[in-house]
Amino acid sequence: MRIVLVGPPGAGKGTQAAYLARNLSIPHISTGDLFRANISQGTDLGKQARAYMDAGRLVPDEVTIGMARDRMAQPDAAGGFLLDGFPRNVGQAEALDEMLRSESLKLDAVLDLEVPEDEVVKRIAGRRICRNDSAHVFHVTYNPPKAEGVCDACGGELYQRDDDTEETVRTRLEVYHTQTEPIIDYYRAQGLVVTISALGKVTDVTERAMEALEKSDEG
Ligand code: ADP
Ligand code: AMP
Repeated sequence: MRIVLVGPPGAGKGTQAAYLARNLSIPHISTGDLFRANISQGTDLGKQARAYMDAGRLVPDEVTIGMARDRMAQPDAAGGFLLDGFPRNVGQAEALDEMLRSESLKLDAVLDLEVPEDEVVKRIAGRRICRNDSAHVFHVTYNPPKAEGVCDACGGELYQRDDDTEETVRTRLEVYHTQTEPIIDYYRAQGLVVTISALGKVTDVTERAMEALEKSDEG
């Protein structure tokens, strides 16, 4: 399956993607994770992206689209993928459509995670991520690790993202409303959008998501 996950920052896209990708046997492709990996490796791409990320703004399409295209061209993504954080504006959505069309492929579903704004602010404020593997995501109160600051899955060090500050979160939410939300209408016109509530336990949300994807597959 080729799936796009959308939802505001902190909705739980990365958390759900880790489970969904495993259940569906497709790679989880997060452009945010790819940028963070480039930053920690000190690449030119990371240097280009960093200031935008720290400010909570979108990295320019010229940089982002090429990076996403390269990742989707990897052999493990030939049979499908779960995109998390891409596309993030209509231009990126059009570029993705064009990429897929050129290979006679198409998206199967766009899973829209709905969460009230006060909840995403709380989720982002307490988010902690593992240095070894960004799929290991915790929350200081909602999903605390057994030992403070240590990843349950691999023992790695947990850290708070540089852009998870109150000020940057406000900008990221505004960017989401003005630039990313329009892609939901764009995909709705293609009949691809399934919306679920991302409130409640992580496992309940995963169950909701799997059900919604199965239904959209039948439809
Ligand atoms: P996104 O990828 O959409 O930015 P994350 O998956 O990183 O969001 O989740 C943001 C924070 O919210 C993390 O700290 C995560 O542990 C927490 N979280 C995710 N899903 C839930 C949930 N259903 N209930 C409570 N907290 C959650
Ligand atoms: P995320 O990990 O998805 O929350 O993304 C973190 C940051 O990376 C965003 O605030 C943007 O600065 C940047 N980013 C991630 N994906 C994209 C994208 N598709 N387009 C532009 N910028 C992106």
